[in-house]
Amino acid sequence: MKQFVVIGLGRFGSSVARTLAERGFDVLAIDQDESLVQEMANVVTHAVQADATDENAMNALGLRNFDVAVVAIGADVHSNILATMILKEMGVRYVVAKALDPLHGKVLAKVGADRVIFPERDMGKRLALNLISSNVLDF
Ligand code: ATP
Repeated sequence: MKQFVVIGLGRFGSSVARTLAERGFDVLAIDQDESLVQEMANVVTHAVQADATDENAMNALGLRNFDVAVVAIGADVHSNILATMILKEMGVRYVVAKALDPLHGKVLAKVGADRVIFPERDMGKRLALNLISSNVLDF
């Protein structure tokens, strides 16, 4: 069974971590904010307070053994990029990173992100397609 690590437990990251855990997957949830870690402690397999830009701390958590990492750090673009780079350098096979804008997305791809997502853009597109699909108009 795949093992997941989710870094950044804001609205987006916590939703990713919660959904994976509800589906029975092993999830390690990481945030630098202890109160957010506490909130996830009963939801996921492990929840740890750590700075994702601290390479030693990430190594100590054995992140290289995880199959998938989701970098859900938002406003702090610097930390988001560094965390993504560290995870790829450690050898995490599939790293998904959340980008704020296209330029940020380009940088993430350059440092090795396997998939870059733009939550608002992607969700907007999904909603539009959902609205024009025939089923939805039958309400
Ligand atoms: P959302 O839209 O998902 O609520 P956001 O885009 O507003 O999130 P932030 O709140 O800026 O994003 O970041 C998400 C989380 O990432 C925060 O809880 C923050 O504590 C965490 N975070 C930021 N930098 C680091 C870091 N270096 N190490 C670990 N966690 C971090």
